[in-house]
Amino acid sequence: MKIFTRPRLSHDVLTLLASALLASAYNVAFWRSFSAAAGGFSMSQVPLLLGCFVLIALLFNAVLALFSFRYVLKPILIALFVATALTAFFMVSYGVQIDKSMIQNLFETDVREASELFSVQMLLALSLLGVLPALLVWRAQVSFPQGLRGLGRRAGVAALSLTLALVLLVVFFKTLAPTLREHRELRYLLTPTNYIQAINGYIKQRFARRIVVAPLGTDAIKGVTASENKHRSVTVIVVGETARAANFSLNGYARATNPQLALQPELLNFNHVASCGTATAVSLPCVFSMLGREHYSDTQAYAQEGLLDVLRHAGFEVLWRDNNSGCKGACDRVAYEDLSVPEKGNPWCVADECYDERLLERLPEIIHEARDDLVIVLHQKGSHGPAYHKRYPAAFQRFGPVCETNELEKCSRESIVAAYDNTILYTDHVLNKTIELLKASERRDPINTAMLYFSDHGESLGEHNLYLHGAPYMIAPAEQREVPLMLWLSAGYRDRYQIDQRCLAARTSQSFSHDNVFHSVLGMLNVNTALYNPRLDLVGPCRNDV
Ligand SMILES: [Zn+2]
Repeated sequence: MKIFTRPRLSHDVLTLLASALLASAYNVAFWRSFSAAAGGFSMSQVPLLLGCFVLIALLFNAVLALFSFRYVLKPILIALFVATALTAFFMVSYGVQIDKSMIQNLFETDVREASELFSVQMLLALSLLGVLPALLVWRAQVSFPQGLRGLGRRAGVAALSLTLALVLLVVFFKTLAPTLREHRELRYLLTPTNYIQAINGYIKQRFARRIVVAPLGTDAIKGVTASENKHRSVTVIVVGETARAANFSLNGYARATNPQLALQPELLNFNHVASCGTATAVSLPCVFSMLGREHYSDTQAYAQEGLLDVLRHAGFEVLWRDNNSGCKGACDRVAYEDLSVPEKGNPWCVADECYDERLLERLPEIIHEARDDLVIVLHQKGSHGPAYHKRYPAAFQRFGPVCETNELEKCSRESIVAAYDNTILYTDHVLNKTIELLKASERRDPINTAMLYFSDHGESLGEHNLYLHGAPYMIAPAEQREVPLMLWLSAGYRDRYQIDQRCLAARTSQSFSHDNVFHSVLGMLNVNTALYNPRLDLVGPCRNDV
């Protein structure tokens, strides 16, 4: 049969063909879901689909180019074709997504169960998409360039593919970013990356050493406070979500997004604060760890205790209340309340989520009933995108018209920004309500109260054609890195901890970052521990040592 004549081709033509083939024929399940997720198939979607296809093929090609060596490329392609053919078959015929638990099932299943999966259709798919291309690759006469020039050529192909892919990414970013964020299942449908990632994750989990969390700050004790009062202290730390400094009128934004906080005379607004990361999964564990941005790694952060543990060791009662997706390890050993799941009849909840005011529910009672000094963290849903319009009650729709879909490409930039600004307006209300609630509690109970607010990271709203967040820190635009940070201390609190308000007010335009939070909270609460670094304490220079 002529089919087995040996085709001749160069290594870069082979990788390009293989990439295009993998991105198309094996990814029926992915393209079907992607098209639906991006608003349903229509002729106007064709440029997006084509653009994305080329983008994915180029990324595959960039990777394959790096393996494009004699005795290496062929075995890799043969294995890829066979494994990807099987994966594609299971995804299409069983509608499954490939993730870590799927791979675990596969490895830990017995032969009898596995044999039930065999079928004629499967053999057909395997021969057509697996064996046939594998045979063609095996028989092909592939020319590989030699020596230094050959290495340069491979690097050049990889770099060119990556650059072109990047250009396409920028062009389609407004559609792609929200689609991929809202439909995380897509990454489990794109093959072969899905099973490669899943196998890698499974192996890591299987062979990971059990993490033993190292204790931190077990020497921590409360310092002596100057005032004679024996009042308890209540410190509320509000962790914002996706709130960027630029859109707070307290920081000079043209729209009045902070009408309520602007009327709090003793609120300190720090206007040059950098986040630790550009995503919750980095910023949140980082800001509660003592590692700081430059030394942060998530394995490190998970392997040692953090700020809330140190406070616990010093004898504080600590409570984390969450209206987001959990605390990413930061609250693992303290009391935790999940307030993100809608409760029937709850005035702060709508169909599938709850507004941030729910975080204040029962707070006066909790404060009243506590026995010791108390630190409460309120983790907001804040300005989480792309569906900004869902984050606030109707009364806070002050700026408009607003974008009312999570498909950002259907909205003008102005309507996206308007919806975002309404989320900041609502956060203004929630923070102000928190302060008023603390004042009321202080009038009722023998306590001293304070609120610290900061956001986890910022957000891009169309600057440089970027949306959402999560850009690598080194190249992330300022909008994603600059976050609001505010501090409100009652007169009683300032007196108890000997903090000078005027001195602090004079520091509000200095540059600070998430790195300051750990030591500032310890400093503010006068906690004595060897971990405390006065140079990172934002409050420290304004405390009269006692
Ligand atoms: Zn976040």
